[in-house]
Amino acid sequence: MSKIRSKLGHWASLHLTYAGKVQLLNSAIFGLESFWEYIFKQSSGWELAATACSSPIWQQVLAIRDEFISKVGSEAEAKRLFQAWAARGKLPLQEVYSIFHGTHHDLRWMAPILDGIVLPKHAFVTTLAAHNALATVDNVCKRGVLIANRCVLCLRAAETRAHLFFGCSYSKDLMQQVLIWQGTTRQVLSLKHELYKLALSRNRSWRSKLARCSFSAAIYFLWQERNLRVFDGASRDVSTLVKRIKYVVCVRMYAWSNGIFNSQLLQLLLG
Ligand SMILES: [Zn+2]
Repeated sequence: MSKIRSKLGHWASLHLTYAGKVQLLNSAIFGLESFWEYIFKQSSGWELAATACSSPIWQQVLAIRDEFISKVGSEAEAKRLFQAWAARGKLPLQEVYSIFHGTHHDLRWMAPILDGIVLPKHAFVTTLAAHNALATVDNVCKRGVLIANRCVLCLRAAETRAHLFFGCSYSKDLMQQVLIWQGTTRQVLSLKHELYKLALSRNRSWRSKLARCSFSAAIYFLWQERNLRVFDGASRDVSTLVKRIKYVVCVRMYAWSNGIFNSQLLQLLLG
């Protein structure tokens, strides 16, 4: 056990976000086979209690176990889920994240993506979008204002948050180009799933910083473009916006790299 506890020593924070809890579960349970054997396969592991002399991280692990049990409803259900995941040999991160996060609104789950790499104005608009607090036409109509609802980006559907990010052909095309630029080959997901993906893959790597920085820049410029069309009657095409996003993100990543043109940044500039 002392070996296991020392391996968990780097989890110093007592206040983990939802994504942090999922990462800790992943690291503790599926990263350390002996931990899994001790805590979850032996029936006694489910009854272990923290004592006054337990280390902070150990208390955190047991607190997450207890929170997990309360979220799924019972110890029996928690055991059933862990046994099924263990049989698959993989922790389904998105599923576990959803269990912790639930359906309630809580700003803490946004924290992993809104760190220092994201420009404050981009973080602000991204937070509003995540909480469906942008003044989209459907939200304005809910307040009793009657206006025709048509997306100004594609002119083909009603403007809602889900449509703007990224159900709309314009925004989907833009986000797809931003993903390709970063070297990501997958298809664009819905706003909610893009946010989950960013929160779960958050780490200190250059690639992770780039993903968060580019995503929030895309949200910001899409909302700016929407407002430009609604209030000024002007418009820009997708490629112009993508160029703008690339420029802003490169400047940000350059600043974060302490003003050094490393190979990753040079590759981005050429992309
Ligand atoms: Zn549209």
